[in-house]
Amino acid sequence: WHRWIYDDSYRSYLIPLEKYGLVIPHDLIEEAWNQIWNKGYVREVAQFFSTGWLANYWRIDGMTDEDFEWFEYKYPGWYDKYGKWWENYNRLAIPNGHHPIVAENVDYVYPHRCWTCMVPCLVREDMTMAKVDGQWRTYCHEVCQWTDEVAFRGTYQGHETPNMGRLVGHREWETLYHGWNWADVVKDMGMVRDDGKTLIA
Ligand SMILES: [Zn+2]
Repeated sequence: WHRWIYDDSYRSYLIPLEKYGLVIPHDLIEEAWNQIWNKGYVREVAQFFSTGWLANYWRIDGMTDEDFEWFEYKYPGWYDKYGKWWENYNRLAIPNGHHPIVAENVDYVYPHRCWTCMVPCLVREDMTMAKVDGQWRTYCHEVCQWTDEVAFRGTYQGHETPNMGRLVGHREWETLYHGWNWADVVKDMGMVRDDGKTLIA
């Protein structure tokens, strides 16, 4: 992760753009590292997408005892934070009259979506919200809020931005399918094969 952020992204991509006049937010590189290394971003993402496996076209296997040991050894404290949930993921992998994990009580609070990057607000302490375009929106980080509230407007720092994309429309999966029957959602997402089976079962 360190090499990816500091060498690949920062030194070989962002820094060279500086000589063309781009302002590089150096402090955000530190924050990127902070998100991944100190705030568990990657582990939160894995947990979130495994929570919603039934809405994906893939599902990762549960973890073995060996995996649990590896995580705890590499990242001390991991088990306390995530272990119980992954134990439940294993338990609920075996059909036994229960719901998929997203609809079972496993001490997981389904997060809000970030209006800007559309990844959920997984680092909970960083979540922000603001009323933009007359609508209350949630953001995964103040930087994503800034992107929507300031950067992607019709004018930015006094310049018109006619070619800029706009963060509008049905941006959140949860809003798009709110109130739908699950079978219709799966069909609408194109996840039913020609033989009538779904992609994951
Ligand atoms: Zn975001």
